[in-house]
Amino acid sequence: MAKIVLENVRKVYNGTVVAVDDMSLEIPDGEIVSLLGPSGCGKTTTMRLIAGFEDADEGKIYIDDQEVTTWPPNRRNFSMVFQFPVVYDTMTLYENIATPLRTLKTDESRIRAIVREVSSSFGIDEDSWHKKAAKLSISDRQRLSLAHAFAVERNLYILDEPFSNIDPKSRVRLTKYVRDIQQKKRHTLVFVTHSQSEALTLSDKIAVMKEGKLLQYDSPDAIYSKPANTFVGWFLGNPGMNFIHCSCRQKNGRLYLDGGAFVALDRIPAAYQKVITGERAIILGIRPEQVEISQTAKEAFIPCVCHFAEPLGSRLLLNVKLGQDVMMNVKVPLEAGVSVGDKVYVHLPEDRIMLFDDKTEEAL
Ligand code: ATP
Repeated sequence: MAKIVLENVRKVYNGTVVAVDDMSLEIPDGEIVSLLGPSGCGKTTTMRLIAGFEDADEGKIYIDDQEVTTWPPNRRNFSMVFQFPVVYDTMTLYENIATPLRTLKTDESRIRAIVREVSSSFGIDEDSWHKKAAKLSISDRQRLSLAHAFAVERNLYILDEPFSNIDPKSRVRLTKYVRDIQQKKRHTLVFVTHSQSEALTLSDKIAVMKEGKLLQYDSPDAIYSKPANTFVGWFLGNPGMNFIHCSCRQKNGRLYLDGGAFVALDRIPAAYQKVITGERAIILGIRPEQVEISQTAKEAFIPCVCHFAEPLGSRLLLNVKLGQDVMMNVKVPLEAGVSVGDKVYVHLPEDRIMLFDDKTEEAL
């Protein structure tokens, strides 16, 4: 196991495509770090730079304080699992798991003990060891390739979208196997994913990327509850954070948030009172599940009309219109029974609101 550090790393393809831009990241020893972001944001390139499949144009890469920027992949000592499972079809399950250990000339009795341990970690029954891999389902193939990858102690384990072709039920199971073995052995693990739910459940830390840049690097909880900017707020969540362009205005000596046709909040949230001291434009952010709703008029509730209502499991997702043109997603319990066309009232609780700079869109 090892700590991985990227220091101001930059990768440009064909002289013009900046895939990774001034990336600095420390992946702590024994933690799972997810690289998350939309297609083309540079996740795969970052992973390939860590693995040594690509050379950095600028910056340095370290494994446990040893600079490895120019080292080839085989010196970096990692295992990798890809989106499409790599297994040897003509070999048995046992041989598939044992192969990397044979390459390292591990003693046969030790190989058997390791195969037994890693099989058990991935729920592979000893009775199936003799079977050929060719007939396995895609999720069992991925399970086998995970067992193959985790059979050897490495500095690092890289999982490149390993669950994107797996059915949802098996995905939950495989995710749990990975989390359990990582927690038991304290492996350092880099997980490349498009899926925010996988990143949120599996990671100790998430690196959210956009256009080659690292936008935020923090725990899943912090990324979700305190996004560094509007993009992160929007990207995480289902659906993401709502944003309302507001003006901070002064009335009777007090600043309040004016949403145009409605008062979003009759005073600056307590957490921002030292940051915002005068009139200015601002973006208010709030998550759909944190908006309160009422079917009757109440003080500090904003009247709106429901334009869209869709059940989402135990919740109802509403899209409501505030004033002339502000649309907002709201998640309420299914029993709320709101339908399209209903007049409802929303409240934006002061302690749930985040404020962002109207130009940079960074959190204030
Ligand atoms: P995806 O989720 O779609 O795989 P990603 O976040 O992993 O995307 P990368 O594959 O790292 O993003 O790509 C980052 C940028 O670099 C994109 O604009 C991509 O088109 C470009 N790129 C990636 N590999 C190459 C390459 N070999 N040659 C030229 N451009 C490349």
